[in-house]
Amino acid sequence: MSEEKAKILIIEDEAEIRRFLRISLEAHGYSVVESRLGEEGLALCAKENPDVMVLDLGLPDVDGQDVLVRLREWSKVPVVVLSVRSDEQEKVTALDAGANDYVTKPFGISELLARIRALLRGAHAERESLPQFSAGDITIDYVARTVSVGGKPIHLSRKEYKLLQLLSRHAGQVLTHQQILDHVWGQGHREDTHYLRVLVGHLRQKLGDPPSAPKHIVTEQGVGYRFVAE
Ligand code: CA
Repeated sequence: MSEEKAKILIIEDEAEIRRFLRISLEAHGYSVVESRLGEEGLALCAKENPDVMVLDLGLPDVDGQDVLVRLREWSKVPVVVLSVRSDEQEKVTALDAGANDYVTKPFGISELLARIRALLRGAHAERESLPQFSAGDITIDYVARTVSVGGKPIHLSRKEYKLLQLLSRHAGQVLTHQQILDHVWGQGHREDTHYLRVLVGHLRQKLGDPPSAPKHIVTEQGVGYRFVAE
C-alpha cells in the first residue's frame, strides 16, 4: 500500500470542517470519502474499505462512541477521533472502545496529518514481520527480547520489557492507562495507575529518557502514554 494513495474516510457533521479536511488531505495526496452521519459513515466504511477513519465524536444521529463500538465488531481500520472538549474522559472512553488516536478541536492540520501517517505506518507494520525496532539510540530485538541503548545492552525487568514492547509496537499512537495495565499486569488492575507511573519512571531511567522532558515515552496527561520514535 502506498501511503500517497491511502483512502481516508471522514465522518463529521460540520460541513466547514469536512471541507477543510477534504481540501487538506487531497492536497497531501490522499483520496477522501466523507459522511456527515454515523449510520451512513459505517455503511460507507464497509463499502469503501478506507485505510484510516477520521471520526467526530459529536454526530447528530449516532454518538461517535457508539459508531466506534459498532465499527469494532467487524473492522480493524485505524481510527483517529476528533474530540471537541479537552475532556480527558471522552478521549479515554473512545480509545478504550477501539479508537487508535485523537486530536482535540481546534486542531492544526499538520498534527492530524502526523497522526494519520503514524496510523498508516502502524497498519502497514502489522502485516509485516518486524523483528527489530530502533528509535534514536534505543534498539529493541523483539525476537531475543533484548534492549540496548547506544549499543550497550541494558537489563529490563519482565514488566519493563512488556511495557516497552507494547509502547514501541504502537509508536506514534497513544495508549490509555487501561490498555497498558491490561497488557502488562493482566485484567483486574483498573485502579493501579500509580504502579504504571512508577514502572514508566524506571523504564525512562534505564533508557536515559529524561523524566522532566521525555523524548521517547511521552505522557498524555490524564489519558495514557505515547512512544515517540523520531
Ligand atoms: Ca460534531
